[in-house]
Amino acid sequence: MDLYEYQGKELFRRFGIPVSEGRLATTPEEARAAAEELGGPVVVKAQVLTGGRGKAGGVKLADDPADAEAKARGILGLDIRGHVVHRLWIERASEIAKEYYLSVTFDRGVKQPLFMLTREGGVEIEQVAEENPDALARLHVDPLEGFQPYQARRLIYTAGIEDPNEQKQIAAIVERLYRCFVEAEAMLCEINPLIVTPEGEVKALDSKFTVDDSALFRHPDIAEMRDVSAADPLETFAREKGVTYVKLDGDVGILGNGAGLSMSTVDVVVVAGGRPANFCDLGGGGDAQGVVNALEVITRDDQVRSIFFNIFGGITRGDEVARGILAALEQMQIGLPIVVRLDGTNAEEGRRLLTDAAPPNLHVEPTMLEAAERAVALAAA
Ligand code: GDP
Ligand code: MN
Repeated sequence: MDLYEYQGKELFRRFGIPVSEGRLATTPEEARAAAEELGGPVVVKAQVLTGGRGKAGGVKLADDPADAEAKARGILGLDIRGHVVHRLWIERASEIAKEYYLSVTFDRGVKQPLFMLTREGGVEIEQVAEENPDALARLHVDPLEGFQPYQARRLIYTAGIEDPNEQKQIAAIVERLYRCFVEAEAMLCEINPLIVTPEGEVKALDSKFTVDDSALFRHPDIAEMRDVSAADPLETFAREKGVTYVKLDGDVGILGNGAGLSMSTVDVVVVAGGRPANFCDLGGGGDAQGVVNALEVITRDDQVRSIFFNIFGGITRGDEVARGILAALEQMQIGLPIVVRLDGTNAEEGRRLLTDAAPPNLHVEPTMLEAAERAVALAAA
């Protein structure tokens, strides 16, 4: 789950990472009142779950409350890459002398948290990594040893930060960010930019914070930060239906049974030259209701041009899944072509059931790759 900037900053504040004081506003009038309370110049910031708000016109400085109200009016309702702005964060404006970048995330390859720090902040980190990789200091933390203070110093030296006053403050921030990352069970904590003011004060001017969904039950205070209205409507619908579903942006709808097979199905569609429309895991079962629910979710996405069932019969037998698919197709009208690959326990019987019933839009293929190729071809037809 991604948090809004202001929510991430609230967590930063709890862990002692310096942030500017601010207020939430949802109307221009509230923005004005917030600016009055804060006093002095403020920055009006769109709260949307996507980056690059500055470039998109979603971050504006305002000199006084009237200006804050005007800037808020301009930003509210703005569409930033598909995210409409409904909330604003009004923050006491900072003067910026330098913009650094600091983050901690998981390096899955190494199975350890990875810190990244660079003096080239303010821009997309991918750009720094590509154009000037030497400027990016990277440091792994062994989760069993835990974070050691010398590691912060090493990270800071490697990044080439030489001012002792900055070094001291950043070392404290790195240590606190690690605690914040571990205790919130985060997947990513990113500060871009981490600024140095003309007075030499270091603070987090932005936050990008992703927490592990699977750990949310241990963090009710973070769980309640979820903004249901910002969630993808299809994913919300899927959650209501009890379907494990992730929307992707292609045109081949996918159903697999089991998370591993479903992920392989996403891959094999790409191998076949296609673009998956979603990840969808039927789970262990293959009963008609489960198939109906999944098909309802998948066909709600009007980008979908074909549907690919990839089933491996294990405990759930192939003939049961075939009956589930046929029963589902009797219950609902589906005009899209459907390709089925069935293997494992009782696969032959399952395939025979499907071929005998032979709805005109149903195609049975013997292997995963052939089925993927067929589904991709049908999506393009
Ligand atoms: P992002 O574009 O979504 O990453 O949003 P940020 O919160 O990083 O803001 C974008 C840019 O706006 C920053 O890199 C700063 O240059 C600028 N900015 C944000 N807050 C302030 C502020 O308080 N004072 C000044 N001078 N600039 C700010
Ligand atoms: Mn930023």
